[in-house]
Amino acid sequence: MTAVMWFRRDLRLADNPALLDAVSAGDGRVLGLFVLDPVLWDAAGDPRRDHLVNSLRRLSDGMDGELVVRRGDPADVVPELAAEVGAASVHVSADFGPYGRQRDEAVEKALGCPLVATGSPYAVTPGRVLNGSGRSYQVFTPYFRAWLEHGWRQPVDAPAKVEWIGKRSDALRHVPDVEDAGEAAARKHWQGWVESVAAYDDERNRPDLDSTSRMSVPLKYGEIHPRTMLADLARRRSAGADAYRRELAWRDFCADLLARYPEAAWKPLRPEFEKMVYDEPGDAFTAWCQGRTGYPIVDAGLRQLAESGFMHNRIRMVVASFLIKDLHIHWKYGARWFLRNLRDGDLASNSLNWQWVAGCGADPSPYFRIFNPTTQGKKFDPDGAYVRRWIPELAAVPGKAVHEPWALAEPPAGYPAPIVDHAEARLESLRRYDAIK
Ligand code: FAD
Repeated sequence: MTAVMWFRRDLRLADNPALLDAVSAGDGRVLGLFVLDPVLWDAAGDPRRDHLVNSLRRLSDGMDGELVVRRGDPADVVPELAAEVGAASVHVSADFGPYGRQRDEAVEKALGCPLVATGSPYAVTPGRVLNGSGRSYQVFTPYFRAWLEHGWRQPVDAPAKVEWIGKRSDALRHVPDVEDAGEAAARKHWQGWVESVAAYDDERNRPDLDSTSRMSVPLKYGEIHPRTMLADLARRRSAGADAYRRELAWRDFCADLLARYPEAAWKPLRPEFEKMVYDEPGDAFTAWCQGRTGYPIVDAGLRQLAESGFMHNRIRMVVASFLIKDLHIHWKYGARWFLRNLRDGDLASNSLNWQWVAGCGADPSPYFRIFNPTTQGKKFDPDGAYVRRWIPELAAVPGKAVHEPWALAEPPAGYPAPIVDHAEARLESLRRYDAIK
């Protein structure tokens, strides 16, 4: 007997119930497969591809080097390989994204054996948190309460012994080494970081302190399961641990919404926003992408993204608001830019957060609450350290003056003047919103 474990967003051996099922179905003999699907590969930018390739290497290291990687359409590759090894079943953790669901249906149809889904990348599987009348939640706070009440299973161990079945594997493309990729690195990073979770509540909005967990990347690739993290959080009592748990619930909420409304990936959840007038993404969009809008906190975020594949959550909100409400450009262009450049780029968390900022999501920030980029900079980067770290042209400007370079007696050479006047842009946004209300 042999079973196939088809890894997707669960690149780990521990706390992986689908793998345990595969081991049990195959009587210990498992072929571990990853399909490099051109549809997903081509849509990802280099930061995600580099991380994925490194993570696959680490996964294979933990499988005596026997991870089989095949390039192609999963609906061809998975049935072919399953037939080749005479697999009794193929095991996966469920995917709730719009493309993943279609792909899995196609694979299931083409397979000559069952496709068995066990678990998901979430603490609580999408669709499971329901209100008293059996309906899903539209609003986060009641969802969060019900999510806590629903609870999750305890983590499970890695299988004690697996005989990994080797087969021809396609070469992985050569990419730069990413040291923090893989299951062992994810656990080590988490175990170190969680020691200081008590400070999270106070510090999480400060990009200059860089004190958030950076766990979005390992969570994206499933190098760790949120259940493992929640079990560690349960042993700690602090406002920080509570706040962190809430953020993990946001991740589940985004996935829950996308599973229910697959069109939310690129279309507003609030239908009136279909009528919102946006500008074409011309030079202003290019300036935004390049971090040359003349608003330092916005530019620092976009340069952090371009240079490191990451951006702090507060700054993601600020740059998103700036694109939508200062430049009047549709959020889908920003969302696409994020997905290409973020190492943690994830369709559910990305689109639903963009919709939140754009005011068109299920439980959005009110549209009329428009971030002032200068005030946001002064409040969350009080000494200007974050801006100076990412914008070399402003490195010599001391203190919070760095947030208003246009007000300096001598504006720093090479740094652009603001491309829009925030006060005017805000009024224009409110006019456009009034027209669709
Ligand atoms: P921490 O503050 O340490 O948070 C812990 C974990 O909680 C995160 O790793 C993440 O899994 C989850 N989390 C925190 N905030 C959110 C949130 N608002 N929504 C959903 N989950 C959350 N996150 C992604 O993982 N991928 C994306 O593509 C993505 N795009 C975003 C786009 C916009 C416009 C905004 C405003 C937010 C986006 N986020 C996205 C959510 C959030 O910004 C990141 O998860 C977070 O910044 C990652 O850093 P961290 O792990 O240090 O976060």
